Order: sequence, then structure tokens, then C-alpha cells
Amino acid sequence: MKTKSMLPTPANLTLDEIQSRFATDEAARAYLEEIRWPNGVICPHCKNADQKRIWEIKASSTAKIRAGLRQCAKCKGQFTITVGTIFEDSHIPLRKWLVAWYLLCSSKKGISSLQIQRMLGLGSYRTALFMMHRIRYALAHPAFTTQLSGTVEVDETYVGGKAKNVKSGHPIKTKMCVVSLVERGGKARSLVLDRVTGANLNRAIREHVEVGSTVCTDDSMVYRGMPKIFTHKPVKHSADEYVRKEKDFLVHTNTVESKFSLLKRGIIGTFHQVSRKHLPLYLAEFDHRYNQRKVTDGERTVSALKLAEGKRLTLKPLKNGLNKPKK
Ligand SMILES: [Zn+2]
Repeated sequence: MKTKSMLPTPANLTLDEIQSRFATDEAARAYLEEIRWPNGVICPHCKNADQKRIWEIKASSTAKIRAGLRQCAKCKGQFTITVGTIFEDSHIPLRKWLVAWYLLCSSKKGISSLQIQRMLGLGSYRTALFMMHRIRYALAHPAFTTQLSGTVEVDETYVGGKAKNVKSGHPIKTKMCVVSLVERGGKARSLVLDRVTGANLNRAIREHVEVGSTVCTDDSMVYRGMPKIFTHKPVKHSADEYVRKEKDFLVHTNTVESKFSLLKRGIIGTFHQVSRKHLPLYLAEFDHRYNQRKVTDGERTVSALKLAEGKRLTLKPLKNGLNKPKK
């Protein structure tokens, strides 16, 4: 029986630790159970948490009983740690999943699926890609629960394609518009916009920023209709102004701009090409690393793993785009 003290704390979790301690699927499963069920096993079917009414069925290859299988006495259902998570129905060993989560969470500019395929010895590029998209999918949604507040920097950029015509506001077709909203000293979220218009930006700001917050942007026309529920502080990039001091407050958009530069280096350097349909997933990946930037790679991995639940993903929604996840 495993004990809590034997497991590394999230802060101490390193790649070496994962590879040496969770080298078997049994160990990887025990670790995931520890993360998902810190206070005891919960039946994913009926939410029964009475430990006396859940028991483990002994694994047996002859009887085709998989390891970690549990029986719930309340609903008579059976389950393992992966039921109802993004790992469900995956044939990839859990130990490899753990390494993939860690690599995604610790690589600043992202990690390509080709590299994941090589590092994990996966059978195909497609398997690696699907695995990485599942992880991104888990990261993509629950962050959007509370609004950003305080001082929020908002800026838009274009990714993909060639940089032509961006200045005139008429990007060529292959360019995709991304808006990022970054709370100074706090969290960020990034969205894909079909077009950069005042209406689209205002909608994003209203949805993600708390009423009464201060919003810093550049002095582009698209921000002129900023709703009056915010204090709008534009910095005059058109007049070569990059920082303006107003008493103790600095008007600038440097935080969101540096976040963009990391995203672009990732997309250009690591992923080369990202499609419109998958762009929200990559944005979620970069946002997660940004939002967890003050913690260790291990802590960032564990907090991501906690999002694996309730995000069951089949091949179908992945093919059809992922903008509308099932709740
Ligand atoms: Zn149950």
C-alpha cells in the first residue's frame, strides 16, 4: 500500500523523479489517484465517497481485469482512475502520460508533438499529437471561472501566416487574431477573434474583466468605444509613448506584449503551424504556463493534472474543432 509521505511533493517533482518513481504503470496510477482523490476514492458515476462501499478488484490478466479497477456498492458501477478524465480510452501507458504532462507544463515555448513522439517512443506522430491536444483541451476551459480585476492590460496580435498588411488593419487571410487580457501581477487569458473590431474587443473585455477595473491598451481606434464601466488608460503608441506615469500608476501594455512575444516564439519556433481550429488549445497551454509562472515545474504539472477530470475527449470533437466543449 502506498503512503503519502513516499510521494514527492508537487514542488519537488522533477522529470527525473517522474521517470524513476513512476516508471511502472502501477506507480503512475497510484500517483494519479493521489492527485485526483486526495481524500479517498470517489465513484465517478454516482459520486459515492464512502470508502466502505468502494473496493478494489484484484487485477488479473486471465480474467481480463485491469489494474486499479474498483467496484462501487452504491451504484454497482465499476471504474478506474481514468474514467471520466482525458485519459479514458487511451491505450498509452499512464507513465508516458505523466511525462507528457510534465514536458508540456515545463517547456516555456512549448514542445512539439514530434519531439514528444521521439521522447516517449510513441508509435506514431498522430498518437503524440492527439495526446498533446487532450492535455491542452483539459487546460482550455476551467480557468475562465473568475473575472480578471485590478489593472488589466489588453492587446491584440496576429499569429500564423506572413506579417504583411497587419499595420493597416487588414491582415491577409492566413493570419489569425488573438486578444490577450493580462492582469498585472496576476492571470492571463487569450482568445481567438474572428476579426479585430471594437465590438469584438469590448465583448471580450466585458466578459473577462471585472466592472470597475482599469484597462490599459494602446491608442488604436478599436479601443475608443471602451465601456464606461472601466477606467480606460490608453498609452499613445502612435506618438512613440510606451510608458506614461500618472502619479503612482504606470500606463503601459508591456506585460501583455511580452506575453505575446513568448507565444509567437513558441508558435514560430516550436509548432511552426497552428490551425485556426486548434489555436485556442495552444493559447490555453501558454496561458496555463503563464498563470502558473511563479511555481515550480512540478507544481505546474500537478495543478494541470487536476484539470484532467471531467474533460473526456473523443476523437470526434477534436476533428470538429474545440471551441464548444461539453460541460
Ligand atoms: Zn457509484
